[in-house]
Amino acid sequence: MSEQIERIKTLIIGSGPAGYTAAIYASRADLKPVMYTGMEPGGQLTTTTEVDNFPGYPEGIDGPTMMVQLQQQAERFGTEVRIGMVTAVDFSDEPGGVHKITVDDSKQIEAETVIISTGASAKYLNIPSEQRLRGGGVSACAVCDGFFYKGQEVAIVGAGDTAAEEASYLANICEKVTMLVRKDYMRASKAMQHRVNSLDNIEVRYNTEVDEVLGDQVVEGLRMVNNQTGEKEDIAITGLFIAIGHKPNTDIFKGQLDMDDTGYILTEGKSTKTNKPGVFASGDVQDKEYRQAVTAAGTGCMAALDAERYLAAIESKEALVS
Ligand SMILES: Cc1cc2nc3c(=O)[nH]c(=O)nc-3n(C[C@H](O)[C@H](O)[C@H](O)COP(=O)(O)OP(=O)(O)OC[C@H]3O[C@@H](n4cnc5c(N)ncnc54)[C@H](O)[C@@H]3O)c2cc1C
Repeated sequence: MSEQIERIKTLIIGSGPAGYTAAIYASRADLKPVMYTGMEPGGQLTTTTEVDNFPGYPEGIDGPTMMVQLQQQAERFGTEVRIGMVTAVDFSDEPGGVHKITVDDSKQIEAETVIISTGASAKYLNIPSEQRLRGGGVSACAVCDGFFYKGQEVAIVGAGDTAAEEASYLANICEKVTMLVRKDYMRASKAMQHRVNSLDNIEVRYNTEVDEVLGDQVVEGLRMVNNQTGEKEDIAITGLFIAIGHKPNTDIFKGQLDMDDTGYILTEGKSTKTNKPGVFASGDVQDKEYRQAVTAAGTGCMAALDAERYLAAIESKEALVS
């Protein structure tokens, strides 16, 4: 016997800071949100030990604990948190139309509003020593973790604008920054290259890649390899930052939602509205600029308020017609 289609008011896809903040606001506004957590319950912050910059935690907090607290706060107001992946969507083009969602390739849901908070995943080099030391000195976020390496020697991998910006950020905090650039030139804009080159404590190594991250429990050094000569060199560092880009988790929305050329969802003006009525996007999935927990949470709040106003406008239109 086929399972009955479930009808809900508000569906939240993703359980990072954006999703949980949307859930807190949506449940307090009686939108009875149902959240699907995806493959990473709690989102990216569950991969870090120390969150020092989220307001309200004077001593800092570890990422997984913070996300459990956000879940508890959302559940306190009635959010239903479910484990599951949204695997397909069919969004309506009509204001007041119903959006069809498939979970885990089987369960069918119809939702009046949808809040997308599926985040963006940092790209890694995917070599074993890097993966082993993630959280032990290997990080994909200089703004988040740079402070922990104050006065120390670190390295950064990448050649684009973000890598150049993060290298400059680290140079203000750290003793020395070695920047590994795979090609014999940087992709970053001329202005960003100028900024990097003007800082005495950044050393740029062209044609250079990571051969191995050294260290047992924590990063102690880096073995670099020159991809032209094959020559290897070890340097002592305590932190390695990977800045080779992010991939927004938007594959299932392709063809349905407007996106930029790198797959980030486009939203209207200062709102979280997508090009489909009743579908909103919050957090890193629509923000390649700031990518912080607090900015994700801020747009999660906006998405819930936008959803609430959308439903109220539909209801008053229906009341006028009847
Ligand atoms: C190592 C590291 C350290 C960081 N440290 C800090 C810090 O100290 N301070 C700070 O402010 N920021 C930090 N950040 C950045 C911060 O984690 C992100 O900006 C923030 O988590 C983005 O929140 P989000 O809700 O948009 O998405 P995410 O946290 O990325 O969550 C996305 C959610 O969507 C779910 N999902 C994806 N696809 C689907 C699907 N198809 N169906 C259902 N669910 C789905 C995932 O399972 C996940 O729960 C750090 C990031 C990293 C990687």
